[in-house]
Amino acid sequence: SSETLSSATDVKNLVHPYTNLGDHFNKGPMIIERGEGVYIYDNHGKRYLEGMSGLWCTSLGFSEERLVNAAIEQFKKLPYYHLFNSRSNTPAIELSEKLLEIAPKSLAKVLYANSGSEANDAAVKLVWFYHNALGKPAKKKIISRLRGYHGVTVASGSLTGLPANHQFFDLPIDRILHTDCPSYYHGANPGESEEAFTQRLINNLEQLILKEGPDTVGAFIAEPVMGAGGVIVPPKGYFEGVQKILKKYDILFIVDEVICGFGRTGNMFGSDTFNLQPDIMSVAKALSSSYLPISATLISQPIYEKIAEQSDEVGVFAHGVTYAGHPICAAVALETLKIYQDKNIVSHVQEVAPYFLSKLHSLSAHPLVGETRGIGLIGAIELTQDKASKKPFDPSVKIEKLVQENAAKHGVLVRGIRNAIALCPPLIITKEQIDELFNGVEAGLNAALETVEA
Ligand code: PLP
Repeated sequence: SSETLSSATDVKNLVHPYTNLGDHFNKGPMIIERGEGVYIYDNHGKRYLEGMSGLWCTSLGFSEERLVNAAIEQFKKLPYYHLFNSRSNTPAIELSEKLLEIAPKSLAKVLYANSGSEANDAAVKLVWFYHNALGKPAKKKIISRLRGYHGVTVASGSLTGLPANHQFFDLPIDRILHTDCPSYYHGANPGESEEAFTQRLINNLEQLILKEGPDTVGAFIAEPVMGAGGVIVPPKGYFEGVQKILKKYDILFIVDEVICGFGRTGNMFGSDTFNLQPDIMSVAKALSSSYLPISATLISQPIYEKIAEQSDEVGVFAHGVTYAGHPICAAVALETLKIYQDKNIVSHVQEVAPYFLSKLHSLSAHPLVGETRGIGLIGAIELTQDKASKKPFDPSVKIEKLVQENAAKHGVLVRGIRNAIALCPPLIITKEQIDELFNGVEAGLNAALETVEA
């Protein structure tokens, strides 16, 4: 049949990111054919509730007509133009105005790209550019965090603090350092209070800066809530302490809002939720509800001024990509932001999030669950073999894949990452659909429990 053919052709032709290709060779892909609201349908017509918004990104679900129409209209008017050499296009301009209107007040300018990785890559180069322009060429090290996820390019993959993204790739590059992950569940010493844990991490950050030399540390980067590292919600006081240290040593703060941006944590930005004052901020994913690729790096006025000062051919800001500010992508992103406003998406998240979180936390009684954590409409279920000791399952059990695949059998897509199940549904999800999501997750947990007990 044509289904078998396309599955076989996929296996024959494609390299799939983050996929065990040996396993893939035996089973083939799940082929997704269409979408409707928070649901997607595979090529057998089976319906799934998309509990991960694809890759934490399709915030408006899979069938928003207004985004389709915005793309078509722009396609007919002007399908391409760039921003190089003092050229511009209207959607790129209008989008920048809207972005700066809603962004944290510390940010003044917008630099476009296509992906979150590129936006963070640009952030790294901006830090280096800025300190070179300031005459502080030594202040180039960037501190990131273990378990942080910032992308896969040479620079953003270096910022990422996950072993899989480093081993075999000779990353991180030098000048990129990693400090602690703010997970109390994983990182606390026996008997250590959350407050003491938080203070220890802040002290460790300061010690790292002092050891390296404050004159050599240019920036610190963080996701407000870590996503791909396992949905790590920072403990109370963490970012307050971190920001104090950064100010003390004159270190720029890069906030990666690629997942948290545009309502996910119950405010427009994670920066609003955690009271962050970024010097640089990256956005992507929900910027266009991922209907088209577009990202942006927002920067403060002082950083911009150093760029603007470089006026000769050599010193000019020689960074930018062909598709940056692509008019169709920008038109779709602009329409996305208008929809967030028209639908009052932040209020909707604030309304349904307590229900989502109460359903999430009620799973902590399940025998497989060590911890549940979340904020807004993002959450995770940590799986454990033994609740008291927090002992994880042996990796060979693939406990998170067991839950993920069994939930899928029950029509719910969630993502297993490192002993945890991540949840990040479209922001348009209703309470009834939240019930459906957790029914599927619970069925997945029960089936996995049966398997490990067998
Ligand atoms: N930053 C964060 C927080 C992310 O979650 C991701 C992707 O998941 C990225 C950056 C990289 O974005 P992209 O995959 O668009 O390059």
